[in-house]
Amino acid sequence: MTTIATLGSHCSLQVLKGAKDEGLKTMLVCEKKREGLYRRFPFIDELIIVDSFRDFLDEKHQSTLLQNNAVLIPHGTLIAQMSSEEIESIKVPVFGNKWILRWESDREMKEKLMREASLPVPTPIADPKDIDKLVIVKRQGAAGGKGYFMAASEQDYIKKREQLIQEGIISKEETLYIQEYAAGVLAYLQYFYSPLSGELEFFGVDQRHESDIEGLGRIPSEQQLKTTKVPSFNVIGNSPLVLRESLLDEVYNMGENFVEAAKRVVAPGMNGPFCIEGVYDENAKFTSFEFSARIVAGTNIYMDGSPYYSLLFNEQMSMGKRIGREVKTAVETNQIEKITT
Ligand code: AMP
Repeated sequence: MTTIATLGSHCSLQVLKGAKDEGLKTMLVCEKKREGLYRRFPFIDELIIVDSFRDFLDEKHQSTLLQNNAVLIPHGTLIAQMSSEEIESIKVPVFGNKWILRWESDREMKEKLMREASLPVPTPIADPKDIDKLVIVKRQGAAGGKGYFMAASEQDYIKKREQLIQEGIISKEETLYIQEYAAGVLAYLQYFYSPLSGELEFFGVDQRHESDIEGLGRIPSEQQLKTTKVPSFNVIGNSPLVLRESLLDEVYNMGENFVEAAKRVVAPGMNGPFCIEGVYDENAKFTSFEFSARIVAGTNIYMDGSPYYSLLFNEQMSMGKRIGREVKTAVETNQIEKITT
């Protein structure tokens, strides 16, 4: 029997519940400290208890997973806690394309793939000396916005970077990535591409709620100026969004361009769930500052199905269940290599 396995964090509950609903076995790699939490959920068949997630890379745990015919579902925690080399060394079949995860973690590679997909990206700024408008300064990898900051000049950049180093949030050696700040309505576009059907599905949209930046808007500007802390973009939660229907055609086009670009650049392409993240400006023009090449936690808001999936499926379909369905179909038709790497 095929098992769906994932790390206990991020969107693991949704993924395993969806797998169970599809009749698959479920396994969770669980940190000791979270055992109590995950034992509450009867749809998790087995726990692999580890001290820290990296331990699951050990021979022992990898062979347990292999013996269980596991397919590993990668998510943000895997990327945040493991290097690209470690992810690529995983022996268990990884759902989607594990090679593209490196393109998500590395800022330069990320920008290259986004340009290849003709996504409208904000202008990158190579040198802090060239900051002459509002920019956002980012860290490498899936840091979830922690330690990001805005700057309007080189001096501003230096001051805030120093402050974050002093606070131990970033290190002196860390290469930071600077890009133009794009103002507008945040929209995180969630998709699923099935190499089995050759079709792109649009699943839904979410917004992220980020502290401190979101709270700042509630404070009068004189008080904002008095705050000494550099406001961060740390994600606290997500909420749903539906788009003007007139925007949907472009949403599909962007997703399809991304899938095609990924096929050209990093075989076997962008299989499974992914997300294009950005903002719509006052003319409803989209600027994309980021992509995630795997399931995003923002899909957690649609555990009973999303507005757009209710147009495609006559049943409640979460992203977790959609993944389970794809695995089940691939197993039944002997095509598991097509959906895993
Ligand atoms: P990221 O890690 O790139 O997803 O960025 C984390 C958060 O920073 C996003 O959710 C946005 O709120 C914000 N952000 C990132 N890039 C930009 C940008 N170029 N313009 C405006 N906001 C941005």
